[in-house]
Amino acid sequence: MNSQQIMRIFEDTAYVRMGGRPEEKKTAEYLCQKVAELGLEASVEPFEVPMGDMEEAFFQADGVSIPCKGYMCCGSGEVEAPFYYLRSTDAWSLSQCKGKIVLIDGYLGYWVYQDLLENGAVGIITHDGNVNYSDRDIDQRELRSYVHNGKKLLAVNINTKDAVSLVNKGVSRAKISVKQREYTGTSQNVILDMPGQLDEYIVLTAHYDSTSLSQGAYDNMSGSVGLLGIAEHFAKNPHRYGLRFVWCGSEERGLLGSKAYCAAHEEALSKVVLNINLDMIGCIMGKFIACATAEEKLVGYMEYLAFEQGLGIHAYQDVYSSDSTPFADKGVPAVSFARRAPANTATIHNSYDTMALMSGEQMVEDIEFLIQFTNRMANAQRCPVDRQMPDNMKEKLDIYLNRKRAPK
Ligand SMILES: [Zn+2]
Repeated sequence: MNSQQIMRIFEDTAYVRMGGRPEEKKTAEYLCQKVAELGLEASVEPFEVPMGDMEEAFFQADGVSIPCKGYMCCGSGEVEAPFYYLRSTDAWSLSQCKGKIVLIDGYLGYWVYQDLLENGAVGIITHDGNVNYSDRDIDQRELRSYVHNGKKLLAVNINTKDAVSLVNKGVSRAKISVKQREYTGTSQNVILDMPGQLDEYIVLTAHYDSTSLSQGAYDNMSGSVGLLGIAEHFAKNPHRYGLRFVWCGSEERGLLGSKAYCAAHEEALSKVVLNINLDMIGCIMGKFIACATAEEKLVGYMEYLAFEQGLGIHAYQDVYSSDSTPFADKGVPAVSFARRAPANTATIHNSYDTMALMSGEQMVEDIEFLIQFTNRMANAQRCPVDRQMPDNMKEKLDIYLNRKRAPK
């Protein structure tokens, strides 16, 4: 694919496509069409996702209505209580949550939610955005099923500017009211199989969904285009190992597509020698990184290969917050590639993630390296990456997947 063809895809997909929504399905169909243009055939594999259609969401602070969005799947109802800003998650600060509606900073992750439940919070307010931006956007958040485990608290998300103002005013009472219809919906993975000479294969992944305000050009139509570029190359070139491309749905909702794939194909994962995941490549600014959830030797190999190819790289061993992680958790060595922009040049998960962040030329260069790496692995006499997940990565997976708490 050349730079113009790539930018055309960003243009074609310049819309929000949240996991489980019709726009996500439309993008899945678009990807199938792009695969068909390569003379190949992709299939769509659906999976179930929790959904919530918001009918009403209100938040009042000392009787004044503040714009908000209700958390999808946090239940329905109304709660009124004293307002409390949890500045820090130390034991003393948490002990002040009892019977209160609590404003927190950052994401509503598993451990902070357990802390809020244990300490008797009765409602939750999160905030996102930036006090220095001119917008008053509010992201649509959700109470993820692996976070609430059936114990739901009403929650709303507000703009950061309002959060600052509430704290500054010293607001004392809060009221949250949410009404929504919750149901089981459908998201989908798009799968392209390219059998090789061996019955073992490499799974290449990239998510194509976006968050609620985002066109997700950088995060992650860029990686989705990367997979198309790799598929285009191997449609015309031999590969010993099979290649299976999986464009994952609902990654932004907690890696739901890759988790669904690994659950549905659990037995077949023993034939997978490597997972190559692309999440955010080809932006104008920033450095190329490779994060290996695999033996450390792979880090050195990727550095050597990048130098050979004339590409600057920062390679390291860690767990990456993307679709590589469910594979790694099933023991499949995994590597995630990204070009990481400095945050002040390209932010994600908001309305600023558009094709204006993207460089067609940089996309071509990044995809070229990814083709070379895939080629080395797919045409190796034996894929050299050890199938054994090292202990330090197992530990990190336990922490990332909330089985173990990170040391404070
Ligand atoms: Zn992403």
